[in-house]
Amino acid sequence: MKVKVISILEDNYMYLIIEESTQQAVAVDAAVSKRLLEIIQKEGATLKAILTTHHHWDHARGNEELARLFPGLEVYGGDKRVGALTHPVTHNEELKFGSINVRCLLTPGHTMDHVCYFVWEDNSPDAPAAFTGDALFIGGCGKILEGTAEQMYKSLTEVLGTLPMDAKVFCGHEYTARNLKFALQVEPESSIVKDKLAWAKQREEEDLPTVPSTLAEEFLYNPFLRVSEEAVQKFTGKADPVEVFAALCKARNSFRKPKERLNPQAMLAFEWGLFDPLLAKK
Ligand SMILES: [Zn+2]
Repeated sequence: MKVKVISILEDNYMYLIIEESTQQAVAVDAAVSKRLLEIIQKEGATLKAILTTHHHWDHARGNEELARLFPGLEVYGGDKRVGALTHPVTHNEELKFGSINVRCLLTPGHTMDHVCYFVWEDNSPDAPAAFTGDALFIGGCGKILEGTAEQMYKSLTEVLGTLPMDAKVFCGHEYTARNLKFALQVEPESSIVKDKLAWAKQREEEDLPTVPSTLAEEFLYNPFLRVSEEAVQKFTGKADPVEVFAALCKARNSFRKPKERLNPQAMLAFEWGLFDPLLAKK
């Protein structure tokens, strides 16, 4: 299977998964319908379905338009806040599109409707892929807006963390360099973090995506998957895994870029496409 990485908006990723023998395709987070249509046309692909990771506008905004253009288009997601939703999914539910298999993974934390999609192709040597939305990022994790730290910890460790280690990680945002700068604060001695950060900065300069990584790689440098490591415990001053995780989330929040540092109300407004700069100053 082929995965097209499509950069959209300021730092979002949308994806098109293509079954190469039939050119049938499934989109992940179709936020910008025009851009998706261009890619579908260029690839000579047929759109079968949309997999939405969560309802935020920068992941789901294109759903209604695409559903209008493709009558019968299947739209999968976690709850009815996802635009044009036709199929609310359940945890571990499996979907099939030709030879492409999808396992839906409920991963609350960033939002309560957050779903990650684990995808593999029958009889293919290609590694499987995990579309992790705003749950797991390269070198980091999403901001907890609706769930608790414990829910996010479970989503990352018990759900995503138990997928095959060779799974490629395709996440929802290009936050890699910033995430790794934070990871280096947490583990200043780690040469793996330093090397990955240098690489991510290089990619940023060349305007190239840092996706995908692999799950095995994430365990080496992503502090949110390393809460049992001594250095991470030392940084947070905690020992209990959930407490370490919660302390990391808190520390990461105060390490945000100006846009990321908005107050929670403005942050939600931003995510919903109702951003008001006046509200942000409160
Ligand atoms: Zn989001």
